[in-house]
Amino acid sequence: MLVVMKAHATEEQVRAVCERVESLGFRAHAIPGAQRTAIGITGNKAAMEQGTLEEMSGVQEVISVSKPYKLVSRDIKEENTIIRFPGSDGSFGGSDLGIVAGPCSIESREQAFTIAERVARAGARFFRGGAYKPRTSPYAFQGMGEEGLKIMAEIRDRFGLRIITEAIDHESLDLVAEYADMIQIGARNMQNFSLLKKAGRMRKPVMLKRGMSATLEEFLMAAEYILSEGNYEVVLCERGVRTFADHTRNTLDLSIVPAVQRLSHLPIVVDPSHGTGKRNKVLPLSRAAVAVGADGLMVEVHHDPDHALSDGMQSIFPDQFDELMTEIRQIAGVVARNVQEPRLQPTMAKASR
Ligand code: PEP
Ligand code: MN
Repeated sequence: MLVVMKAHATEEQVRAVCERVESLGFRAHAIPGAQRTAIGITGNKAAMEQGTLEEMSGVQEVISVSKPYKLVSRDIKEENTIIRFPGSDGSFGGSDLGIVAGPCSIESREQAFTIAERVARAGARFFRGGAYKPRTSPYAFQGMGEEGLKIMAEIRDRFGLRIITEAIDHESLDLVAEYADMIQIGARNMQNFSLLKKAGRMRKPVMLKRGMSATLEEFLMAAEYILSEGNYEVVLCERGVRTFADHTRNTLDLSIVPAVQRLSHLPIVVDPSHGTGKRNKVLPLSRAAVAVGADGLMVEVHHDPDHALSDGMQSIFPDQFDELMTEIRQIAGVVARNVQEPRLQPTMAKASR
């Protein structure tokens, strides 16, 4: 159920409705919008009597939401959610695209710094890199763990990049939330409901990747788990799904971008690296993702992909990332979006070339 407050409802009136909702054993989510505040009511008890709230002051109307997802839906918030980061001009969901780049895994301090310097110089505002890796084989590199998180924190200090890294379970989530600016929940964990709930109790934005066989509804319901716990800062990420196609690792489903944007106020970015698994397809699919209206990109970049400890085949070289940024900057203009210019001084960039 959804309580739509009047445009001029006071904070006290909003609070009174929330208190009434909670006193009835439900959870109230006050979501301010451009015109008015809406209060989402969630809980897994029997439905609440509509009349209970309709008579309260400041209430415009009480609507029952028939869709299974409620808080992620445009019914509760018509305008796009914009996720910002303290001390950074990077964001997701606004007119600037959120560009995330970096290696699949943090392998060493030197590797991470080399790549971070290049992606910052190209204009990315977010640095990715796994410290905990969900690998198909137990014998494959599993990530550097907390050591990797420390390297990422140093990169934030050095380059001003905001840090995104994956939590694979409850233990790593505590550590990731401590060091990172944004918590990544990977494709394999998209329906790890207890992990989603825990991420929902963290006060850090979450990058939620689509499960490799998840439908649109399952994807949105996974995000709903996070919002239902009170964390409203979720960015969705399309990273390809499994199909019969064997010319790519996964099939990048770009049509989910407008499909999500129609139903949800949450930003959605595209990962063309996992989405194709092939270095030579990352640039064309990045162009397509921006053209289709994605709110950003997440791209794997490595200076020595032949020796990368994970996902070298799909990692692009820093020079290719420069080219990618130049090209998407032009395409972004066509769809009324913007790719931010680099913030690093050219002199500094040259010195470390
Ligand atoms: C990753 O981003 O490195 C990753 C493991 O992605 P996914 O969960 O989409 O496979
Ligand atoms: Mn990877």
